[in-house]
Amino acid sequence: MGIVVQKYGGSSLADADAIKRVARRIVEVKKSGHDVVVAVSAMGDTTDDLLDLAAAVTPLPPARELDMLQSAGERISMALVAMAISDLGYTARSFTGSQAGVITDAQHGKAKIIDVTPGRVTQAIGEGHIVIVAGFQGVSQDTKEITTLGRGGSDTTAVALAAALEADVCEIYTDVDGVFTADPRIVPSARKLDRVSYEEMLELAACGAKILHLRCVEYGRRYGIPIHVRSSFSQLEGTWVVSDTGLQGPEETTMEQPIIAGVAHDRSEAKITVVGVPDKVGEAARIFEALADAQINLDMIVQNVSAAATSLTDISFTLPRTDGQVAMTALARIQAEVGYDKLLYDDKIGKVSLIGAGMRSHPGITSKFFAALASAGVNIGMISTSEIRISVVVDENAVDDAVRATHTAFDLDADEVEAVVYGGTGR
Ligand code: ADP
Ligand code: ASP
Ligand code: MG
Repeated sequence: MGIVVQKYGGSSLADADAIKRVARRIVEVKKSGHDVVVAVSAMGDTTDDLLDLAAAVTPLPPARELDMLQSAGERISMALVAMAISDLGYTARSFTGSQAGVITDAQHGKAKIIDVTPGRVTQAIGEGHIVIVAGFQGVSQDTKEITTLGRGGSDTTAVALAAALEADVCEIYTDVDGVFTADPRIVPSARKLDRVSYEEMLELAACGAKILHLRCVEYGRRYGIPIHVRSSFSQLEGTWVVSDTGLQGPEETTMEQPIIAGVAHDRSEAKITVVGVPDKVGEAARIFEALADAQINLDMIVQNVSAAATSLTDISFTLPRTDGQVAMTALARIQAEVGYDKLLYDDKIGKVSLIGAGMRSHPGITSKFFAALASAGVNIGMISTSEIRISVVVDENAVDDAVRATHTAFDLDADEVEAVVYGGTGR
């Protein structure tokens, strides 16, 4: 029978008992006649703990050493899972990302997988072993250094392995029963989605729904790998992330897709405002060039209409908080050249997004969204839209209220509380 690729997240591997439980699940699949390849995350909050340790040693850890440090977390769990499997009488081989052939670009902390050459994995499978691969890490083709894929990156390791091994499906095991209409930690009445399109899942992930890593969804879509998100704590069927056409089973072809897939939130961004930019051709280009050179991914961008009297304008944009320091330094360097007044930095913001493919054909979604925010007393800072998404920036403290009000306004609440959070600290 075919290869099954699975991924277990940190909350599913929190301690020795959890590791033994996961090992039993893995062995069950092997017993049923499949070859099994498993990507694992670091145990519990290990990655956060390691990052805290680094911060306690220095405020600015070198990126290379941070990756050496963080990649150790997954190494611990891969070895322990392999040991637990051998205790059950089956053989397992653990491999680091580098050993498993996960080749990336050279960007520490946010490396992209550019190739997977799983020679050692297929050899171990051929020898009858269960294969355990450390998620979240790879090796740079250019520099030969160990890299990490960004927070939540083990999901991407799993889907990339599934694509390289031509598996039929990639199973992502986590601490909730699937993808819900909102984070169940904030909205207990959120409903589980049985199916969601890659397209909607991409927007959900990009907007902060950390249930799946964004690049894992991109990978799944590109290689046509269905992703089954489910709980490692229950036997329930989870959520299938599939192509649009996969959403229409034979009996469902006449059914309309729901208008809204869900509400996502994100507290990982910051806002920078460049105040008093001369309203001249080329100024914005210079500012964003400096940010691009510093490898910063921007999200929303807003430029105010310039005041007639001064011909000066303000440009605001959001970016990952972790890039805040680098961005401020890069912009400070070009102050004289651009001739702006000053920079403002605000990391007390949050983003709330409403996502649904049905938005394309349904007017009035924006007004309903904004009315829900207004009735919850939430002030909107910035707005951006795509074909199937509306996002707003709000005060960090208003995020939970905004998510709940929106969820209710769009009738997404389940009649009975359905969302179970089995583990994890939500960190
Ligand atoms: P793992 O350790 O398994 O990778 P994560 O903590 O990365 O788990 O992701 C699972 C968590 O994602 C859930 O516990 C939940 O709080 C959060 N989450 C955010 N948005 C959603 C959503 N729309 N549906 C389900 N879970 C969500
Ligand atoms: N351990 C890493 C993290 O906490 C990767 C992952 O869990 O997917 O982000
Ligand atoms: Mg995760």
